[in-house]
Amino acid sequence: MDFDVIVVGAGLAGLVATAELAAARKKVLLLDQEPESSFGGQAWWSFGGLFLVDSPEQRRMGIKDSRELAWQDWLGAAGFDREADEDYWAVRWARAYVDFAAGEKRSWLHSLGVRFFPVVGWAERGGYLAEGHGNSVPRFHIVWGTGPSIVEPFANRVRQGIADGHVIYRDRHRVDELITRNGAVVGARGAVLAPSTVGRGEESSREVVGEFEYESGAVVVASGGIGGNHELIRQNWPARLGTPPKRMLSGVPAHVDGRMLAITEQAGGRIVNRDRMWHYTEGIQNWNPVWPKHGIRILPGPSSLWLDARGQRFPAPNFPGFDTLGTLKAILDTGYDYSWFVLTQKVIEKEFALSGSEQNPDLTNKSIRQLLTRIRSGAPGPVQAFMNQGEDFIIAQTLPKLVDGMNRLSGENLISLADLERQMIARDREMENRFTKDLQITALRGARQYLGDKLIRVARPHSFLDPANGPLIAVRLRIVSRKTLGGLQTNLSGQVLDAGGKPVPGLYAAGEVSGFGGGGVHGYRSLEGTFLGGCLFSGRQVGRTLSGLN
Ligand SMILES: Cc1cc2nc3c(=O)[nH]c(=O)nc-3n(C[C@H](O)[C@H](O)[C@H](O)COP(=O)(O)OP(=O)(O)OC[C@H]3O[C@@H](n4cnc5c(N)ncnc54)[C@H](O)[C@@H]3O)c2cc1C
Repeated sequence: MDFDVIVVGAGLAGLVATAELAAARKKVLLLDQEPESSFGGQAWWSFGGLFLVDSPEQRRMGIKDSRELAWQDWLGAAGFDREADEDYWAVRWARAYVDFAAGEKRSWLHSLGVRFFPVVGWAERGGYLAEGHGNSVPRFHIVWGTGPSIVEPFANRVRQGIADGHVIYRDRHRVDELITRNGAVVGARGAVLAPSTVGRGEESSREVVGEFEYESGAVVVASGGIGGNHELIRQNWPARLGTPPKRMLSGVPAHVDGRMLAITEQAGGRIVNRDRMWHYTEGIQNWNPVWPKHGIRILPGPSSLWLDARGQRFPAPNFPGFDTLGTLKAILDTGYDYSWFVLTQKVIEKEFALSGSEQNPDLTNKSIRQLLTRIRSGAPGPVQAFMNQGEDFIIAQTLPKLVDGMNRLSGENLISLADLERQMIARDREMENRFTKDLQITALRGARQYLGDKLIRVARPHSFLDPANGPLIAVRLRIVSRKTLGGLQTNLSGQVLDAGGKPVPGLYAAGEVSGFGGGGVHGYRSLEGTFLGGCLFSGRQVGRTLSGLN
């Protein structure tokens, strides 16, 4: 046997598992198909939003949260309905994960040097009843330093393991097959890819220059989801979300190719909940792309008017930031694969954030000086760059000019000036009283009861057609692929199960490839900030199991 454990994938889940194993002095082989420049995988690019429950940051902002409330919300979002089978382990992982988020998660990360931005964000607000989808309270904690700072402590521990000789790291090693003997997984074989000098996140070549084969006591698959493989996404697209979009942007690098799922299935592992996925509806084409079809997600505050391709407002509660998949279905039901935000300069200045570490240089560089520029007038720098150079933005002083620009951009002439004007006048009339029947405006006023929203997230409600609040802005929104909610079914030790529900000896999984634990810890929907946390938790579980600590 060459190694105690082979870990496939140097993303967050693989790094966390490897760090635990190295600490237990196990001999680990860490393999990744990408060059070292992409060490850390998707997490490096992430915004670093983490789901925490009843944290000191929440309490300081006056938020009352609890494990019970979080579990109520989790169940409302997840809608588990396959509990006897595909959701059997998912529900158990969900319970354990919510306990982790309400318990040890923050103190463990804190002990590793991770710190948080003091204002807690309110993602996936729901818009239904108390037991329905969405976060009852703000829970989206942004890591100070964003994605790179959540990767760093684990990358450092792995590098220490490499220096100590416990970890051997091989980049450009693509696993093509898991080796099995008498039903047990005993190693991995695959192709050595040509050295590559591409930068982080860029697509690397698939030229094969050699082969490898290693044996080990166990293999941990931590290879990520299918978000970069649009063909696989379309194959697994569930009918309940409507027709798959004809065009999609990619919210993840090309290495998120999903190949290891079928490879692991061949070795006896079971894939469950293939039809569950999490893609965003507020995608814009990156004007400065790193990977193919690179799309950026707008993290929107709640004020923008959300219109379908024909310029009709979506019905409640399809407001920005309320229900990702609900709005995805509403968009696809129109027969078009894009939609529009219409807003004002005042809204964009306060409410537009962009997901991704590179789109938030102030938070990523931990620069308070840069951060303070957010409260000055004007849009944040990266947002302004999109306004100047992004192909999806139209800025106009008058509504006729805006509509003209929208019709030119889509090339479909679907927006009627009279129709949009009527809807905007109607919306603006609802500003006159402190009460209203328009649920979006009720939501804006409700949100501003939360200090964090009032300070940095939700613009003071205002008339959109008043030129003093302009110029007017329209943003064309595309579907941007991102996360895989289903995956390899694992028990709470991280062992991959076979079709009969029994562990495949020697086979483990962690992170997105395992549906962030159990083959789908989220059920149908996420409360956000739960993906990085799912990698941390499942990577740690597997690492500790294989270290003999669980
Ligand atoms: C822009 C962006 C913003 C995000 N923001 C957030 C956020 O704020 N909060 C949150 O919770 N989540 C966020 N996410 C999601 C989160 O980052 C990912 O779900 C998570 O990092 C996945 O980690 P992973 O280790 O499971 O997989 P990955 O990071 O995809 O790593 C898998 C690794 O396995 C390697 N690999 C795959 N197949 C093979 C093979 N056959 N052989 C060898 N190596 C292989 C890949 O090259 C890759 O390095 C964001 C993601 C992106 C892209």
